[in-house]
Amino acid sequence: MTEEHKETIFSSIIRKEIPADIVYEDELVTAFRDINPRAPVHILIIPNKLIPTVNDVTEDDELTMGRLFSVAKLLAKKEGISENGYRLVVNCGSHARQEVYHLHMHLVGGNDIGPMIC
Ligand code: 5GP
Repeated sequence: MTEEHKETIFSSIIRKEIPADIVYEDELVTAFRDINPRAPVHILIIPNKLIPTVNDVTEDDELTMGRLFSVAKLLAKKEGISENGYRLVVNCGSHARQEVYHLHMHLVGGNDIGPMIC
C-alpha cells in the first residue's frame, strides 16, 4: 500500500473496529451517518475498497461507483427524502476541502439545504 493509499478511519468503520451508525452494507459499499451532520439526513456512502479520491477511480471500479448511486437512491427513499429532494456530494482533494482520503458520497437532505453544503 502506497503512502497515498494509506488507510483512514473509514476503513476501521467498514471493519467495525470503531463504532458508527451503519445504515447499509453489502459486498461493495458501506453507508453510515456522518458524525457531524449538516442536515437532518447526512449519510456517507463509501466503497469498501480503499479508493482515496475520484482521481484514483479506475475502470475496475465502475460497478462500485454505480452502486454508490443506487444505494443513495435506496437510502433517500428509506429516509423519506426522495420526493422533496436531496444532494449528493463527492469532494476531491484539497481545493474541495476533502478531509478523509477514502472516497465517499455525502447524501444530504431533510430540509432546504441551500445552494451549497459539505
Ligand atoms: P469530506 O470533507 O472529506 O468530504 O467529508 C468527510 C466527512 O466525514 C465529514 O462530513 C465528517 O464529519 C465525516 N467524518 C469524519 N470522521 C468521521 C468518523 O469518525 N465517523 C463518521 N461517522 N463520520 C466522520
